[in-house]
Amino acid sequence: MTTTIDRNSPDLWRHVVSTTNQTHAPISPFPHETIPAFPLSSVADVTTAVQRAREVQRIWALTALKDRQTVMSRFHDIVLGHETEILDVIQRETGKARAHAMDEVLHVAMNAGYLARVGKKVLRTERRAGAFPILTQSKVHHIPNGVVGVISPWNYPFTLAISDALAAIMAGNAVVIKPDLQTVWSAIYAVELLEQAGAPQGLVQIVVGDGPTLGQELVAHVDYICFTGSTRTGRLIATQAAQRLIGAALELGGKNPMIVCADADLDKFVDIAIHSCFTSAGQLCVSTERIYVAQEIYELAVSKLASRVTSLTIKAEMGWGYDIGSLTTSAQHERVVAAINNAVAQGAHVVVGGKSRPDIGPLVVEPTILSHVSDQMDVARQEVFGPCVFISPFETEEQAIALANDSEYGLSGSVITRDVARGRAIATKLKCGSVNVNEGFAATFGSVSAPMGGMGDSGLGRRHGPEGIRRFTQPQTISVQRFMLISRAFGMTDRQWSRFLARSLKLMRALRIR
Ligand code: NAD
Repeated sequence: MTTTIDRNSPDLWRHVVSTTNQTHAPISPFPHETIPAFPLSSVADVTTAVQRAREVQRIWALTALKDRQTVMSRFHDIVLGHETEILDVIQRETGKARAHAMDEVLHVAMNAGYLARVGKKVLRTERRAGAFPILTQSKVHHIPNGVVGVISPWNYPFTLAISDALAAIMAGNAVVIKPDLQTVWSAIYAVELLEQAGAPQGLVQIVVGDGPTLGQELVAHVDYICFTGSTRTGRLIATQAAQRLIGAALELGGKNPMIVCADADLDKFVDIAIHSCFTSAGQLCVSTERIYVAQEIYELAVSKLASRVTSLTIKAEMGWGYDIGSLTTSAQHERVVAAINNAVAQGAHVVVGGKSRPDIGPLVVEPTILSHVSDQMDVARQEVFGPCVFISPFETEEQAIALANDSEYGLSGSVITRDVARGRAIATKLKCGSVNVNEGFAATFGSVSAPMGGMGDSGLGRRHGPEGIRRFTQPQTISVQRFMLISRAFGMTDRQWSRFLARSLKLMRALRIR
C-alpha cells in the first residue's frame, strides 16, 4: 500500500542523514511559492551515511535479482501514482513548466520499468568459453561495487537523483545521494517512494550541504561515484576518483548541434526545435544550443521559428497550461543574461527574445534566437544552459558536419531531414554520444534500453541500457579446471609441454573451437 506524501511532515527529514540541528530553505523561482526547510548534514554525517549504507548493502547484495526487480516494478507504479505531488515539488524547486517536470516523472518510470524487465538478465552469471573446452569451465559473476555515491544537479532534480541510483541498487549496491541544495525535496520524495516500493531503510540515503565540501567527502568514502553536473566539477571529481582508484561515471555539459537539411519539413523542424531548445527553459544538458540550416531554406526556417517563438506563453507559477517557465536560480539567471549580452556585444543579432522578464517572474528570460554568430564568439563554444540558441546557414553537408563537430563537447546532436537514410549517415559522422534523427533529444533520452552519455568534454561512462547497469558492478571470473591441469607437464619436459599446448591451440583454431 502506498501513502500520500505530506510535504509538511518532518518524518520525511529522516531520509537526510543529519546531526547538525541546522536547516536550510531555498528560494523558489516562482514568486508566490515557498520551499519548506530541510536539515543540513555535516562532513561527519557523510561518513555515517556511507557506513550505514555499507551495512545495509551487505544484506541487500544477498537478495534475489527477482526480488529487486519487484521493487523496481512497484516503484514504477508508485511514481506514476504520485504524479501530482512529484510535479508540485519539481515545479516549486526548479520553476520549470509542468509539462517539462512531467518528462522527469516519465523518465524515472521508464528507467524503473526497464530495470524491472531486464535487470535479472543483465546481471545474471554468464558462462564464457574456458581456456580448454570441457576441461575449463569459466563463469563471470557481476559483483556489486558496494556503496555508490550519486552527486546530482538542480536542473532535472527528480530523475537525476534517483534514476542512476535505481540501476545501482538493482545491481546490488547501496547509494548515498548528494543532491544540489536548491532541489533537495525532489530527492527526498524519490527516496520516500522507493521505500514505499519495498527498498529497505538505509539502502538509499541523502546527505545535504555545500557541494564542494560534502561532494568531496562523499567521493572520499564511496566505492563508485556517479556524477551529473558541469564539466568543471566533473574534472575535479575524476581527479579525486583516480587517486582512490574507484570507478566514476561523469555526465557533463553539452553544446548540442542540430543540422537541418535542405529537404526538411520546416513545420516539423519548428516543433522539434521549440521542444529541444526551450524545454526546462533550456536548462537541460541535451538541449539544442546550435542550429545549422541549409542555405537554401535558411531565411524561411528563421522566420518560421521566430514567429512560433513569439507565440510561446511564459509563466512563473504552478500548474499546467503554459510553454516555458522560469530559470531556477539567480546565479543561473545572471549567467544566461550575461551570455546573451556578451553575444550581442561580440556581434550577434537577436532575432527574437533576448530580455529578462521580471514582470513575469524574477528569474524569467525570454526564449531567445541569435543569428550572425561566428565560430570564435563565446556563445558559439560555451554552454549557456538557458533558453538561448543560435541559428546559422551552411552550404554543404560536409560543412554542416564540420560545424557540428567543432566543439569540445560531444553529448547530443540531431539531424532533421525527410531522407532517413541520409539522416542516419550524417548521424554516424557526428561526434556525439547520442544523435536523434527527426527529433531533438527526446528519442535517445527516452530510449532507456540504449546507452546515453558524452564524448569529449561531455563526460565518461554511460547511463541507460545494460551498460548503465553493469557499470555498478565488477566482473569476477571463476574458472574451474577439471581432469587435466594446465600447469602440469605429465612427465613431459618443459619444451615438450609447451609444444603440446601450442599444437592444441592450433588444432582448436582449425576446428574453430576458439
Ligand atoms: P555543478 O557541477 O555546479 O553541480 C553539480 C553537483 O555537484 C551539485 O550537486 C553540486 O552541489 C555538486 N558539486 C559542486 N562542486 C562540487 C565539488 N567540487 N565536488 C563535488 N561536488 C560538487 O553543475 P550545475 O551547474 O549544478 O549543473 C549544470 C551542469 O550540469 C550543466 O553543465 C549541465 O550540462 C550538466 N548536466 C549534465 C547532464 C548529463 O546527463 N550529461 C544532465 C544534467 C546536467
